[in-house]
Formats: sequence, C-alpha cells, structure tokens
Amino acid sequence: MEALWEKTSDRLRGSLGGACFQTWIAPLRFVSMEGKRVTLAAPNRFFRQWIEERYLDAVRESLSLEAGEKLELALTLQDGKSASNHLKRPSPQQELYDDYSPNRARGPQPPRLERGITLNSRYTFAEFVVGSGNQFAHAAAKAVANQPGEKYNPLFIYGGVGLGKTHLANAIGHHLLSGRERKLRVIYLSAEIFMNELISSLRRDRMAEFKERFRKIDALILDDVQFLAGRERTQEEFFHTFNSLHAERHQIVLTSDKVPRDIPDLEERLRNRFESGLIADIAPPDLETRVAILHKKAAHENITLTPDVALYVAQSVSSNVRELEGSLTRLVALASLRGCTITLDFARQALRDLISEKLVKPDIESIERATADLLHIKLSDLRSKKRTQPIALGRQVAMYLCRKLTECSFPAIGEHFGRDHSTVIHAYNLISKRVSDDPAFRQTIEKIERQLKPRGA
Ligand code: ADP
Ligand code: MG
Repeated sequence: MEALWEKTSDRLRGSLGGACFQTWIAPLRFVSMEGKRVTLAAPNRFFRQWIEERYLDAVRESLSLEAGEKLELALTLQDGKSASNHLKRPSPQQELYDDYSPNRARGPQPPRLERGITLNSRYTFAEFVVGSGNQFAHAAAKAVANQPGEKYNPLFIYGGVGLGKTHLANAIGHHLLSGRERKLRVIYLSAEIFMNELISSLRRDRMAEFKERFRKIDALILDDVQFLAGRERTQEEFFHTFNSLHAERHQIVLTSDKVPRDIPDLEERLRNRFESGLIADIAPPDLETRVAILHKKAAHENITLTPDVALYVAQSVSSNVRELEGSLTRLVALASLRGCTITLDFARQALRDLISEKLVKPDIESIERATADLLHIKLSDLRSKKRTQPIALGRQVAMYLCRKLTECSFPAIGEHFGRDHSTVIHAYNLISKRVSDDPAFRQTIEKIERQLKPRGA
C-alpha cells in the first residue's frame, strides 16, 4: 500500500510544484490503509494543522485518483501517541455534529447545543482580541449574550472574510449556554446548512419537524446569511422562522459578509427584518490589534514570540486575521521542523516563501481562457448561445472548474455565462460524474487545472 502513497506523491509533486511538495508533502509518512481510510502522519501538530487547512483536499483527491475509488484521509502525528486524535475535514453536514477544532482533545468538551450541534471551543469571548475595528461588534455581541432577546434583535454582524464574524457568533453561543439557571436552547449553524437541512426535510416529508425544531429554541445564530442570496424557498422558510422567534422575543444573531441591502436577490421583507435590529460591522484590525492577536495565539499554543517577530508578521499580513494566524502557524511549523528558534531573519525568509507559495485562486476569466485553449475552442464561443457539442461541453467544463476552483456561487457563475444557476448545477454534476467515471476525460480536466496553478509554487 505504500506504493499507493508513492504514486500519489508523484502526482502531488506535479500538481503542487517542487518547492511546495518538498516542504509540505515529502515529510508526510504513510501509516496505514484500513478499508477506505488512509492514515498519514505529520511531523508535528502545527504541520498537521497547516496541511489540514491547505492541502488536505488535494492530497485526498490525488489518493482517490490513484486508488481509483473515493478514499478517506486521516492525519496523525509521527510520534504515534495521538493516533486516535486524527483530524478529518468534516463535510458541512458533519460540521453540525462534530467539533473539529484542533484543541478538542485538550480542552474541556464544549457544551452541547440542540440536537448535538457543538460550537468551536476555541471561539470564545476570552480568546477574542478587542481592537478599534471590532470593538462595536464585540460590545453588541456581549450585550446580546448577556441579555438575549432584550437588547438588539436581530443582531446583524457584517464584515470581510476572516475578520472574526464566526468567532463572535460562536462566542455568543458559548456564553448563552454557560452559567445560567435555566438551560437555554440554542441553535448555531450556517445558512448553507440551514438550507441543506431544509431540503432534506422537504425531501423526506418532515417539514413539520423542521419547523418545530427551529421554533422552539431560545436563540438562533445563523452564520453567513449572504448565502441566502437567490435561494427563494430557503428565504421563505427562514422568514417564517425569523418571525416566530422574533415574536416570542427570542434572540436572533446573523452574520454576513455584506450589509443587508447589498445582498443580491434577497426578498425585501427579509431585508427589512435584517435591518430592524442592530447592524454592527467589523473592520480589518489595526497594527496593534494584529500584534495582540499574534501574542494571544502564541500564548495559547505555548510558543514564545519575540516582539520584533510579532511586529514583523503583523506588518506583513494586514488584511485578514485568518491569514495572520496562517503565517504564525507556518512559522511555528517550519521552525519546529528544522529545530530552530523563530528569529526575525527566520521569519522574513519563511514569510517570503509563503507569499510566493500562496495559492492564488484563478478567476473566471482565466478558467475560461485555459479551458478554451486546451479544448481548442474559441473563447468567445464559451459565452455565446451556441450549442454544438464541443462548445456546449467546453462551457460545462468551464462552469465545473469555476465552481471547483473559485468561491463563486452557482448563480454568480450562471450570470457570467448568461445562464441560470440550475444550468450550472447540471453542468457541475455532469462533469463531476464524468471525471470520476472516465480516466481519459479526467486527465484532460487535470491538465486544465495544472495550467491554472500559479507559477513558482
Ligand atoms: P469570518 O467568519 O469573519 O470569516 P472567523 O471568525 O472565522 O472569520 O475568523 C478567522 C480566524 O481569525 C479565526 O481563527 C478567529 O479565531 C480569528 N480571529 C478573528 N478575529 C479575531 C480577534 N479579534 N481575536 C482573536 N482571533 C480572531
Ligand atoms: Mg465565517
């Protein structure tokens, strides 16, 4: 079975590029394959987290391609002590039931929410650094957590990617669940999962149960409501859920990367509801806050971070807290791999590599260009109304790749190609199936994907 890992490694070397392969994939060791579950070992916890966040999907896909069947992937640590503490990326459904935070094994078990949903144990108020950009949202979140249903209802938190919306939403959840005489019933979930649950309830003819479940709670925290854009049926159901909770003065917390009026295709009545409570924004953190976040993270992980290194890292990554954390994780992973301390020079070198390695996501235009190029069709035909077989197929491939490689939603991709979202979903399903059934076709698709990989990675 190690042969499988060798072949997979070769494949990954090709798709990720030599430098990235050497740093991140080569140190992984094959441990076992039991049934469809492959276990690999990473040299240490930071390394494992880094792989988890960036390369897990790529590794799993390559393994599955080599094996000719869909495999599951688990990462363990090389000392073997924590073999059971593997991390597996959860599917959105699982996310409802599992707390997959890396700290799970160490910290106390997070409190249970309604029907087994758990919050991320790391995302508490205590772990949240307050600075000028988030101070208002933080204060509002605290007020709501202390007096649910009384102060601001709904509380609508908005801000850019990686700025702490999900963190604050979880923190409210933790606070509502802790230290109260009467146990509150809280549901935390993302709007996407809300929609999935709704669809599955409709399919199984269990709508009464669905309604009942969401209406008998004390607080509903819905993350990423921008996802509701264009989803009419889900909006309608959520509208009723919202009204019944609101009428009972039960707390509703919403997060979004846009203000309500900028969420496209959102029903007017829902927009009005969203705007009817308090809207609190989170702006990117200033330098001092970024430094404080780095120190807090480092302390949490028992790492010593000198002030000059913290300042350097905070200056190099300015926009997004998630990336800030990623840089720290990388520094620590590399330092422990090489057995050296994190000096300023070391940090400079490591972060320079990071910036060149960073996986720049391709945009729709470059996907169209690469697809047209490799399938020998004209770029202009892709967006045309032509339906001859090669053009229609090329268009479906481009739609598939847009969904797979970018963060664009089905409706957004549809708009670009002048088609509606159901056409894009159909194309995506069709091409996915063909990729898994037809090896020659799969190779063509992989070739296009390779073309889209950033140079120098
Ligand atoms: P969003 O939901 O806005 O995209 P997240 O809440 O997922 O962002 O935050 C991204 C990461 O940054 C998380 O690991 C979170 O803990 C961390 N983070 C964001 N803001 C802060 C903060 N003010 N203090 C500490 N950690 C933060
Ligand atoms: Mg989020």
